[in-house]
Amino acid sequence: MKRRTALKNLGLGLSAGLIAPQILSACSKDNQGPEIPYNGNVIVIGAGVAGLYAADILRSKGIAVTVLEAGTQPGGRVRSLRNQTDAQYQTYNNASQADFPVELGAEVIFGSNSAWGKIVGDFRISTVEIGAAASPSYILGGQAKSDAGWQGDSDFQALKSFVSNLPNVVSGGSIKEAANLTSRAQALLNSQAGNWFGSSAERISASGIAQMLKAQTHDGKHLTMRNNPWQDVLISRFVNVLPLIKFNTEVKAIDWGSDVISVSDAGGTQYTCTKLIIAVPLSILKSGSIAFNPALPNTNTNAFSKFGMDACIRLVLDFRKNFWGTDTSYIWGGTTVPQYFNSGAGRSQFFRTMSLTINGPKAQELSALSEENLVKQVLAELDLIYSGQGTGFIRRDLNDGKIMSLVKDWTKDPFIKGGISYPLVGATNGDREALGASVDNRLYFAGEATDASGDAGTVNGALNSSLRVTDEIISSIINP
Ligand SMILES: Cc1cc2nc3c(=O)[nH]c(=O)nc-3n(C[C@H](O)[C@H](O)[C@H](O)COP(=O)(O)OP(=O)(O)OC[C@H]3O[C@@H](n4cnc5c(N)ncnc54)[C@H](O)[C@@H]3O)c2cc1C
Repeated sequence: MKRRTALKNLGLGLSAGLIAPQILSACSKDNQGPEIPYNGNVIVIGAGVAGLYAADILRSKGIAVTVLEAGTQPGGRVRSLRNQTDAQYQTYNNASQADFPVELGAEVIFGSNSAWGKIVGDFRISTVEIGAAASPSYILGGQAKSDAGWQGDSDFQALKSFVSNLPNVVSGGSIKEAANLTSRAQALLNSQAGNWFGSSAERISASGIAQMLKAQTHDGKHLTMRNNPWQDVLISRFVNVLPLIKFNTEVKAIDWGSDVISVSDAGGTQYTCTKLIIAVPLSILKSGSIAFNPALPNTNTNAFSKFGMDACIRLVLDFRKNFWGTDTSYIWGGTTVPQYFNSGAGRSQFFRTMSLTINGPKAQELSALSEENLVKQVLAELDLIYSGQGTGFIRRDLNDGKIMSLVKDWTKDPFIKGGISYPLVGATNGDREALGASVDNRLYFAGEATDASGDAGTVNGALNSSLRVTDEIISSIINP
């Protein structure tokens, strides 16, 4: 009853099929062992995946925890359309033909045996393996074809071999420099090894990505959830953390000069703790919108400067016909949209909704456009590749003829300010360790950007980072 009220107050409802989460959290491996005697308390800043998981682990150990969240809902960059109450989203949600959950942020589970894959598996949530349900298409020279369709094309073969060998690349330069492909293959390279990692092939460190991929330990399968919105799964898994969250609490200052750390929010309210976990996006730390007094050590701030977090747009479009092919999963190689995703593949009989992800300089450019003009540019690209079918089959409101689209511009979200972190040229995966280095056994950094175990930029990375910081905190309590 209490839980239902908490969820209702958040304006969030759970999808069918989720089982009692308390049972799961009581069985999970991070919840074993005795409670830890600790007279202090921990504040977690940010109720994204990393903040929720860290708070849950500490709570389960009997440690007093409070979570301060700037926004109005838990999940951060995990945000499901069905859980949104804004009029803008409701209108699209009501009209959308998609009979599967549409995601505004994270939508693909990487690895069936990864940190997130295991949580989803524990809940017995039905998933679809994208690679088994459909296959990718690749755009080269204005034409989209399958892998088999491009057999014998030397540009395509060079691209494929670079991407599949990416974990072994050793280079001091960018992805673009390391790949050294012809101009015809640049857009494909950019989509698969630039946009995919959060920016463009010119900006991203080849070695940084190579080392990250090499460190990955899961099976790398790509899965979608068949029926459950991601935010529901998070809420269900971390239901015991919900009462500990203070929403609408944007942290502006952290005074850590004395034993008691003082955290101030935008309204001037102060909260105190003895240990602090900072689980906000890297963009927020880099923007300086949280003041540290005293300033953070150079080792931390230098590490911030080695990583980027660029603009990011998610656009969802409904069509009247699946003109790109019912057996197509991703479409790679667009210059306006580097990543088209046939998000209903394998989980719906309606394959007519596309989920588009644009990162980096292109997203920055498109972010300046009105929604109408953004959609026009996207349809123009689809029209060129698919002979006018983009504009021909886009779904319009029957009453006013307006195109039905959904845009989530993450760059404009004041508490996210971008997509995902990525290593700038010169940065290595090891630099992520400095990004997550704790200060004085009292300030701890969590979040996807701080994961050096191979999953940065993903929900897995956020979860892994929470295991790391909570291990550090627990060790520092047990062995002060
Ligand atoms: C469009 C898009 C698509 C993606 N696709 C995938 C995918 O398919 N698969 C995948 O695994 N990952 C994907 N990701 C990445 C994944 O969403 C993130 O890696 C993960 O959710 C990050 O979790 P986090 O806890 O580190 O940070 P966040 O989720 O960003 O949480 C940080 C929290 O801190 C809060 N905050 C910020 N500033 C303050 C402040 N001053 N005071 C208090 N609170 C503050 C924010 O409101 C937010 O709730 C995608 C991301 C985007 C944007």
